[in-house]
Amino acid sequence: MTETSSLIESCFSHADVPLLLLEATPAAWRVVRANQGYERLFGRRCADVVGKPWQDALGGLPWLEGMEAELQRGDRIERTGRLGEDRQPMLWCRLVAQPVAGSDGRTSFALLTLHDVSERMLAEQTRDFLASHDAVSGLLRPALVKDKLATELVRAINQCHRLFVCYVDIDRFRAFNETDGFEAGDQLLVRIAERLTGPGEAPSLATRIAGDEFVVGGLDASGDLDMLEVGQRLLDRLREPLVLNSIPLRLAASIGIACFPDTAASVEELILQASLAARTAKERGGNRVHVFDARQRERLKDRIDVGSHLRGAVARGEMRLVYQPVVSIAKREITGMEALVRWHSPALGLLTPDRFIPQAEHMGLIWEIGQWVLAQACQQARRWLDCGVGDFVLSVNVSGLQLRGQQVIEDVSRALDAARLPARYLELELTEKATMGDPEHVVSLMRELRKIGVALSMDDFGIGHSSLGLMQRFPVNRLKIDRSFVSAVPDDIGAARICRAVLGLAHEFGCTVVAEGVETALQLGFLERNGCEFAQGNHLGEPLDAEAMLARLRNPSLQGSENAHLGDTGSILLVDDEQNVLRALARLLRRDGYTIHIASTFQQAFDILGTAAIDVVVSDHRMPEGRGTEFLGKVKETHPRTIRMILSGYADIGAVTEAINGGAVYRFLTKPWVDDDLRKVIRDAISAARREPQAHAAGDPGGQRALWAGDMPQSP
Ligand code: C2E
Ligand code: MG
Ligand code: MG
Repeated sequence: MTETSSLIESCFSHADVPLLLLEATPAAWRVVRANQGYERLFGRRCADVVGKPWQDALGGLPWLEGMEAELQRGDRIERTGRLGEDRQPMLWCRLVAQPVAGSDGRTSFALLTLHDVSERMLAEQTRDFLASHDAVSGLLRPALVKDKLATELVRAINQCHRLFVCYVDIDRFRAFNETDGFEAGDQLLVRIAERLTGPGEAPSLATRIAGDEFVVGGLDASGDLDMLEVGQRLLDRLREPLVLNSIPLRLAASIGIACFPDTAASVEELILQASLAARTAKERGGNRVHVFDARQRERLKDRIDVGSHLRGAVARGEMRLVYQPVVSIAKREITGMEALVRWHSPALGLLTPDRFIPQAEHMGLIWEIGQWVLAQACQQARRWLDCGVGDFVLSVNVSGLQLRGQQVIEDVSRALDAARLPARYLELELTEKATMGDPEHVVSLMRELRKIGVALSMDDFGIGHSSLGLMQRFPVNRLKIDRSFVSAVPDDIGAARICRAVLGLAHEFGCTVVAEGVETALQLGFLERNGCEFAQGNHLGEPLDAEAMLARLRNPSLQGSENAHLGDTGSILLVDDEQNVLRALARLLRRDGYTIHIASTFQQAFDILGTAAIDVVVSDHRMPEGRGTEFLGKVKETHPRTIRMILSGYADIGAVTEAINGGAVYRFLTKPWVDDDLRKVIRDAISAARREPQAHAAGDPGGQRALWAGDMPQSP
């Protein structure tokens, strides 16, 4: 070997770059030399590969297949690929094979150079992965999943399958993030993603759509899967115990499902509907599945219709106010009115606020509407005053969103100034719910508003989440008992109790009370007897336009049926299983002008109590269904303001004493009766029932006990 060739040999052997020299033999291209660079990269000794086919030295790499033929043709080859699929960390190489001609001029050698390009390849791979995948959960990105869902939808249409989308919103994930940190939160998202793409689910149809919210699609080829069960299975899988960083966890989620063709017709609709269903599941306490149904679809459609026409409605002059009278129960007189907004949409017709106020809040249009309502109401109040009508208070509803910031103060001042309306004519109604968001701020706003001179009332009271601690800090003048309670009295014992409790609470706090939604004389009677000051409702007057309201203000006393409860002389319910007794009593008492109701069973008696305003109940003691004292005990619970008496030929002294002392029975009368004595007792009872409500309510809620003593029963 010459000096030069031994130098070349040494350079070859010690080069850092992995080198292999191959020689073409009839059977194969064999390795004739390998160097230290090769040894380092492959972890094999040169001596072990020299003389072997090149595939042995490199390990059968699919991306090098066909290399020999190209070398044979004398082509230079450049290829990049992975060295060994199972090699970790991953090793990527760029291989350059340079054909070398032998002394006969034919290609009989090749020099292989291998370059480690792992770093660059990994970076490229990550970039490609991230372009299509979510970096946190490793799931496909939403846009890709939507494309795939669109393809599935076409397939579902062609093959009459169903396509469903589950929207998964993890419960309390935020709290986990805050207590355990964002890194742990990210790890948890990975685990959730694994569960969502578990057996049975197509991983390609799962994506993380936002924060802790996922969308998982699926195909129902049978066409009769129960969607609730589908969701429940997913929820069950999420709920299986989990350990993260040695901390045992239990996940819960609110899952909404929508299905094509059941309710949705496009991928966008599927996702939107499923997300709304998930919100419903969350609002119902979470950890449950809700399937979007046709009723919800109607509501959604309505919301979209309303939303698309609502913008600009104020400017186009489509809003109007109507005014519902508020009545002083004691004076039987209109003392004010509530302004209620109506939207006359050329496209949708006449809409009441329940149909568009929530959407206006959602779209940020509530400020514009609220300002218009305030300005309009104040101007109308000014016009009424200018027409010479005297005292009234005009109530205006204010949305919770209007209570953010200080804007409402400015709006109210501006509306009053523009209309030259003294503030005492205006009352603002804030709902209980609206005051709960940031109570500290609301308290200070309320104080500012009171300083301006406007009155405040708490609307829809009883259905929100008021804290009594806060209640005492709210400077409100009136509470409005929600119509759901008022409409259920006096028959529903629970509602009656709530009304009485609200009245007691309001009076303790120095507020007066308005009962909303009074629809019957019976309800009005109940409210009056329990000391409610004001009432509003269709029984007393439906919402009117400004002109009609002016006419009512000019003649504020209640008329006709509104006043029916006052006009009558009293009504009596007679309960006896003997028809001739009922007939005789009815004949006698009708003479005094009372309205008489008769019942021969307790059941009939309760039916009558539920529908008619009864002042006095007179019951036989020994009835086939039981004792009269027990019956009157129940009546005391359900209709405490009735005056209750027993009229019987027999008595059970113990039961009667107990009933009287318990306040269930006002008097015990005996058969046969003396007509004039009985008429006097009834007259007294009616006037006790009709006594001034405040005085009547004070001290003795039944108004019963004191009067019994003179009429102790005689022995049968
Ligand atoms: P609200 O403040 O509790 O108003 C009373 C609602 O009860 C009114 O419904 C009224 O028409 C209805 N009502 C009154 N008496 C009866 C009755 O005897 N029976 C029945 N079934 N309903 C009765 P409306 O006008 O549909 O208003 C609904 C709600 O919309 C209001 O409830 C109020 O919260 C809101 N609202 C009304 N006007 C405005 C407004 O200008 N701005 C804001 N932010 N909300 C408004
Ligand atoms: Mg109101
Ligand atoms: Mg209300």
